[in-house]
Amino acid sequence: TTIAPFKNEPFTDFTQEDNKKAMQEALAKVKQELGKEYPLHIGADKVTTEDKIVSINPGNIDQVIGRVSKATQELAERAIQTALSTFETWKRVPSRERAEYLLKAAELMRQRKHEFSAWMILESGKNWAEADADTAEAIDFMEFYAREAIRLSETNTHQPLTKLDGEDNRLTYIPLGVGVVIPPWNFPLAICAGMATAAVVSGNTVLVKPASTTPVIAHKFVALMEEVGLPAGVINYIPGSGAEVGDYLTTHPKTRFVSFTGSKEIGLRINRLAAETAEGQIWIKRVIAEMGGKDGIVVDETADLDAAAAAITASAFGFQGQKCSAGSRAVIVESVYDEIVEKVAELTKKLEIGLQDENYAAGPVIDENSYNKILEYIEIGKKEGRLVTGGGKAEGNGYYIQPTVFADVDGKARVMQEEIFGPVLAIAKAKDWKEAIAMYNDTEFGLTGAFFSKDESRIETALQDMHCGNLYINRKCTGALVGVHPFGGFNMSGTDSKAGGYDYLLLFTQAKLTSRKL
Ligand code: GLU
Repeated sequence: TTIAPFKNEPFTDFTQEDNKKAMQEALAKVKQELGKEYPLHIGADKVTTEDKIVSINPGNIDQVIGRVSKATQELAERAIQTALSTFETWKRVPSRERAEYLLKAAELMRQRKHEFSAWMILESGKNWAEADADTAEAIDFMEFYAREAIRLSETNTHQPLTKLDGEDNRLTYIPLGVGVVIPPWNFPLAICAGMATAAVVSGNTVLVKPASTTPVIAHKFVALMEEVGLPAGVINYIPGSGAEVGDYLTTHPKTRFVSFTGSKEIGLRINRLAAETAEGQIWIKRVIAEMGGKDGIVVDETADLDAAAAAITASAFGFQGQKCSAGSRAVIVESVYDEIVEKVAELTKKLEIGLQDENYAAGPVIDENSYNKILEYIEIGKKEGRLVTGGGKAEGNGYYIQPTVFADVDGKARVMQEEIFGPVLAIAKAKDWKEAIAMYNDTEFGLTGAFFSKDESRIETALQDMHCGNLYINRKCTGALVGVHPFGGFNMSGTDSKAGGYDYLLLFTQAKLTSRKL
């Protein structure tokens, strides 16, 4: 059978009554299932430990989402050995067959879409549209990487070789081995599924160490892969602490690669640990890291100011600013500065804060650590700029923070330079569009950016000069779509990988050239 060309999963319109009802039903169903226990998956074994990670709803901190067993180094070792032995058989499974598991899983996830989203609404504090987009992206990643694996397996199509008479030359892409997959909590389904399935569809076996704040939705993904018959041991599920289990796996001599999405600090640490050669290790580990961002939107005086203000607000406050793509900075040209600040303030004040079951625009931040760190940054911002709106805690039995806007911030200010990963936007003034672009580029990161203008030649310059992996013109800087906007950034934003792009699977493979005399 032929596989239809890739198409993005459409988003759900929750203003339609039937969709709204379907989500309410999914939430009710998931609420019946709260508080359960989840084991580790090591091969076919389900391992329960005494010690547990307790996952809670950040918007209603008395609500326990689930209790998840916690790996020790011993269990991590067992998982590595299992993944190693499974690799010997999995690497020989034809790509097409491997891809079929992803396609089946995508189909099942599509059927239970709202249920997956409901878990995220409760476990991560996403509103309905954000959760729906996350589930859609997970489906997209599986559909996309399945097709990519098949394409990559077609000899000599990916990289046609120069013909030489008298020889049959072929280039094939073979897997690397056992990988450690460390997904983030901010796209706890999409990025977890994307990172894991990209690796396994390419023939690797993996150990998934989910984020400690969102282990239940990660388990739902792992269970789905089991349900579609993915052989045991291909995806192992081993939640645990970074210091104990993460470091152990990263430094292990049999680990072939580490695929990580998260903060700059942890990404750099993994990169450093992975660079050490352990006793008995016979390769250089590969690190694929997608780290932070201090993304920004630049607006010149020719721009559609309403569209720009809407994009700034959406980019800054979508999922409470907890995206590495979040537009946490805006640089505005002097002559339209006051107007933009005013419009952004107005839109921001309209964001209602509350429980995500009830689909408020603004929900909680992920946990107490984030909450405290963001509140500290808000105090720093009060010294560095003019508080326009927000500025502190918000009501609720959870980690709620008011969407906060600072204006008149210097380009070098900490709130302009450091990733806050929360609902905090800093706005700076530039004398003209050129200075605005220079200020945009004054960052150690380089993930996303946007330029708002109607001037063609300025847009040309912005396209060339704004240094980031995902640059958008006259639109928001979040919401990359699989296959459409391959996602990943420069400099301290990571290793320049492009998730959802046509060269992503190469990161999980190595090329083997075979030359046969005819
Ligand atoms: N791909 C997401 C976007 O374009 C961001 C991913 C992330 O924050 O890790 O908004």
